[in-house]
Amino acid sequence: MNYDVIVIGAGPGGIFATYELMRLHPGLRVVVLEAGHELSRRRCPISEGRVSACIGCKPCSIMNGFGGAGAFSDGKYNITNNFGGTLYEYVGKQEAIELMEYVDRINVEHGGQGTKLYSTAGTAFKKLCIQNKLTLLDASVRHLGTDINYVVLQNLFDELSDKVEFRFDTAVTDVELIDGGYRAVFEGGFVEAPSCVISVGRSGSAWMEHVCDRLGIPTSSNRVDLGVRVELPSVIFDHITDELYESKIVYRTEKFEDNVRTFCMNPHGIVVAENTNGIVTVNGHSFEDEARKTENTNFALLVSKHFSVPFKHSNDYGQSIARLSNMLGGGVMVQRFGDLERGRRSTASRIEECTVRPTLAATPGDLSLVLPKRILDGIIEMIYALDKIAPGTANDDTLLYGVEVKFYNMEVELDRNLETCHQGLFVIGDGSGVTHSLSHASASGVYVARTIGSRL
Ligand SMILES: Cc1cc2nc3c(=O)[nH]c(=O)nc-3n(C[C@H](O)[C@H](O)[C@H](O)COP(=O)(O)OP(=O)(O)OC[C@H]3O[C@@H](n4cnc5c(N)ncnc54)[C@H](O)[C@@H]3O)c2cc1C
Repeated sequence: MNYDVIVIGAGPGGIFATYELMRLHPGLRVVVLEAGHELSRRRCPISEGRVSACIGCKPCSIMNGFGGAGAFSDGKYNITNNFGGTLYEYVGKQEAIELMEYVDRINVEHGGQGTKLYSTAGTAFKKLCIQNKLTLLDASVRHLGTDINYVVLQNLFDELSDKVEFRFDTAVTDVELIDGGYRAVFEGGFVEAPSCVISVGRSGSAWMEHVCDRLGIPTSSNRVDLGVRVELPSVIFDHITDELYESKIVYRTEKFEDNVRTFCMNPHGIVVAENTNGIVTVNGHSFEDEARKTENTNFALLVSKHFSVPFKHSNDYGQSIARLSNMLGGGVMVQRFGDLERGRRSTASRIEECTVRPTLAATPGDLSLVLPKRILDGIIEMIYALDKIAPGTANDDTLLYGVEVKFYNMEVELDRNLETCHQGLFVIGDGSGVTHSLSHASASGVYVARTIGSRL
C-alpha cells in the first residue's frame, strides 16, 4: 500500500473529505485523483468568448477539475434537510445539519467572511405562502456567489496542496479489490490504499455504475426533474429575494396533484446554457459583485418524475425531452408566458418587443411542443400561484426558457457510514445518489473522513 487513503474526484465531496482527513490526521498519506484540471487551468472556451457553442472539450472544464461541478456555480450552500439530498437518512437529522454548519464555517474562514447567510426562520413570508396554497421550505442559505466561491476553492487548494498529493488529469478507469484494500487504476499507473473514497459527482455517473456492477454493489434508480427557467424583472421578486435570497416554494397542482417547486433562484442574475454530454439545457447564475448584477431575477420551476417498472431509466427520459428541445431550438428555447398561454410560438420580433430583456440569447419557440402536457400544465398553475405572492409573475412578458433538467445519479446501496458492502470503500457526494447539492456533498465528505479517522 503506497497511501493510507485514496480519494477519487476533487469536487466538494472529495475536497471536504481531504480537508477533514488532513485536519484530524496531518501525517496521513492521502492521494486525490481528479479527471479534470487544477482550478487555475479550468477554462471553458464558451465562457471566454472564444467559441459560441460547446466543442466538447475533454475534460469539460465546467464539470471537471478542482472544485467539481460547483466551481463556477452560484455557490449557494443550503443548510437544510428539506432539499439538496437525503444525507440525514444515513447520519440523522441533527448530525446532518451540524455537518453542513461545519462546512459553512470552513467556507467562511477561507474567503467567504463577507458573504451573507439568509434564513427562513421567523419570516412572515411563510404565512403568505400558506394563504396562497404554497409551502415555503425551511432553510438557511449562504450565498457565496460565483466570484467568492472561486476564491474559497483557491484558498482551500492552497492550504491542502502541500499536505496532500493531488494528481490532476487523472481519470480513474477502475477500482479493484486487493488484499487489505483497494487499487485505483488509471492510464499509466495505479495507487493502493486500505481506504478509498469515491466522489465522482454527476459527471462520473456512468463510471460509477460500471464500478458498482464490477464490484457487485447494489444500486437503485433515482428520479429526474424537468421544467423551465423563469426570468422576470427583479423588482417582482425583490421583496422575497432581499429577505431570503433563495426560497424553495412548493405548490401542489389542482389538476394532477403533482408537486411543482422553485429551484436555484438567482436574484439579479443571468440565465446560462449548460452542455452535458452534448445535450444543452438551461441553468442560472448570479454574482456578489454589484457591477455584474442584472435587472432580472431567474429561477427554475421543476416537476420530479421517477420511473421504476418496466422502464427505470429516469435520466434517459429527461435526456430525450432535452434532445427534443435541442432539435427544435438548436439549443435552449425561450418563450414569452403570454405566447405560451395563447398557444403560439414566440418569434424573434415578439422577444425583441418584450419588456423583459433576456440575459441569454436563446431561440424563440414553443415549449408546449417539447414538455409533456402534465408537466407544462403544472408549471402554468404554479406561475399563477406565484403571481399571488409576487404580482407580475404571470405577466405576458415573463420569459420561460427550456428545458431545465436536473439529472440524478442512481442510488448506491450504502450503510450508515456511507460505506459499500466492501469495508473501507465509501461513496459520497452526488455520485452516490444520496446528495445533490454543494452543502450535502461537502458534509458527506467530512462525515466519511471522520469515520476513516476513527478507525485509524
Ligand atoms: C452550473 C451549476 C450550478 C450549480 N449551482 C449550485 C448551487 O448554487 N448550490 C448547490 O447546492 N449546488 C449547485 N450545483 C450542484 C453542485 O455543483 C453539486 O451538487 C456538487 O458539485 C456535487 O459535488 P460532488 O463532489 O459530489 O461532485 P462534483 O462536484 O461533480 O465533483 C466530482 C469530481 O469528480 C471527478 N471525476 C469524475 N469521474 C472521475 C474519475 N473516473 N476519475 C477521477 N475523477 C473523476 C470530476 O472531474 C469532478 O471534478 C450546481 C451545479 C452546476 C453544474
